[in-house]
Amino acid sequence: MTTENKETRRSNRHSKQSFNSPRDILWIFFLVGVLMLVSYGTYIVYNKIKDHELQEHLENQTSQLVAQIDTELEKNDLPSEKKEHDSNTIKEIIYLPKETEKLPYKNTEEQLTQLVKQESQKLKHPKQAIIVGCVEKQAHTDQLSSYALHIETYDWKTKEQTFQKEKERTEKEIYVNTDSGEEITAQALIGSKANLLGIQQVIQQKLLDNAENPQEILDAVLALPRFDFKDATYTPEHLQINLPKNETGVDEVTLAYRDIQAFIQTDLVDPNQLAEESTDLDPNKKYISLTFDDGPNAETTPRLLQILAEKNVKATFFMLGQMAEEFPQIVKDVYEQGHEIASHSYSHPQLNAIPKEALLEQIRMTDKALYNAAGILPRTLRPPYGAISPESSDIIGKPIIQWDIDSYDWDSKNTNAVIDRVNQTSFEGGIILMHDIHPATIDAVGPVIDNLHAQGYEFVTTSQLLEQKEKPLYQYFGQKDTREI
Ligand SMILES: [Zn+2]
Repeated sequence: MTTENKETRRSNRHSKQSFNSPRDILWIFFLVGVLMLVSYGTYIVYNKIKDHELQEHLENQTSQLVAQIDTELEKNDLPSEKKEHDSNTIKEIIYLPKETEKLPYKNTEEQLTQLVKQESQKLKHPKQAIIVGCVEKQAHTDQLSSYALHIETYDWKTKEQTFQKEKERTEKEIYVNTDSGEEITAQALIGSKANLLGIQQVIQQKLLDNAENPQEILDAVLALPRFDFKDATYTPEHLQINLPKNETGVDEVTLAYRDIQAFIQTDLVDPNQLAEESTDLDPNKKYISLTFDDGPNAETTPRLLQILAEKNVKATFFMLGQMAEEFPQIVKDVYEQGHEIASHSYSHPQLNAIPKEALLEQIRMTDKALYNAAGILPRTLRPPYGAISPESSDIIGKPIIQWDIDSYDWDSKNTNAVIDRVNQTSFEGGIILMHDIHPATIDAVGPVIDNLHAQGYEFVTTSQLLEQKEKPLYQYFGQKDTREI
């Protein structure tokens, strides 16, 4: 064996040894292990950093959202205390107004907490969410504010990495008078019995207007029991009334505020629901109103209508129910020619001197006769002889229209006397009393109108003169002479 061969064999043996010895294998395992540990460690650290970043981002987003809500709520003008409650992934925040005694709620904190809890329980999967409960205050007009319990739920959106408002709900909205802080009720809105009765009249006409066959319910409408404050429910948009038990087949009506504008405190409702305060009266003009009682009459009333049409003058006719029943076509003509139709009782008794039932009959029978003839219920009434009492005006339930210029036509029955009398006693805003059943009166009407026109007067119906603001339980002698009965 040569030395060279020996060397080669040794080296061969040597290399064989380095690949096979257990020490080498351990070494490899060790290296792989270290490598794995390092990777795993890096992975853990990386994730820790990432988690931390996420957590930081989430916290940032949370405080941003809360700051945003804080700012929004500052506009509310309700200094509040923030009460936070974290449970796992859900954050509940309640903004509790500091002056809870000024709120229209009993135990505001409890109610808000309960509402927030309800929303919290509705979240199906445990996910990151923020639920906010607060009291919302809104000013609608100078006099009208509202409070509501408001709950908002914000969900964490993983994709967008931000909170988004998922839903909101508003509960227990309560309207209050801004000055007093008191809840607005139908009673606060309507205020007086006179207004209640005024609204009652609007309801009666509305029931007839809405009926498919008004004749069928006319008696029931005229006998409609009066509603009271407790039957009415206020909302800023309309008034809801549950009618007391009645025979009209209707048990609930919704009234638009523009239809009952004269009978409510208008600054307590949504201004959009009101008609524009427009009066046909021009403050620079002087107005006067012609009224004719005791008709209609088959001969004199049509003649009067012709004169009024020629002079283009509108007047108010206080009609007797029994005469309207006899001459419905004349009633219709009067109405269709643009004059106002009003009640003067059925058979002209002294209304204070008859029993309540008889008085009710006088009113209802006249209403019925005028409705049958003209399709409209008379809004106002002139009592025979001007005789009225608090008791009778309550039973009548209509504004009472008196007069302050008496033509004495019923006394003189003389055309010239009537012309002179009216000419000498007329004044701005007055209501002139005449009777369209005397031929002498009809002869006087043309010259009376010409004289007053010459003095610069314009003629309007009494309702126009009073700007449709007449109320039951009040009597009106002229434009500027209103008296509580
Ligand atoms: Zn009379």
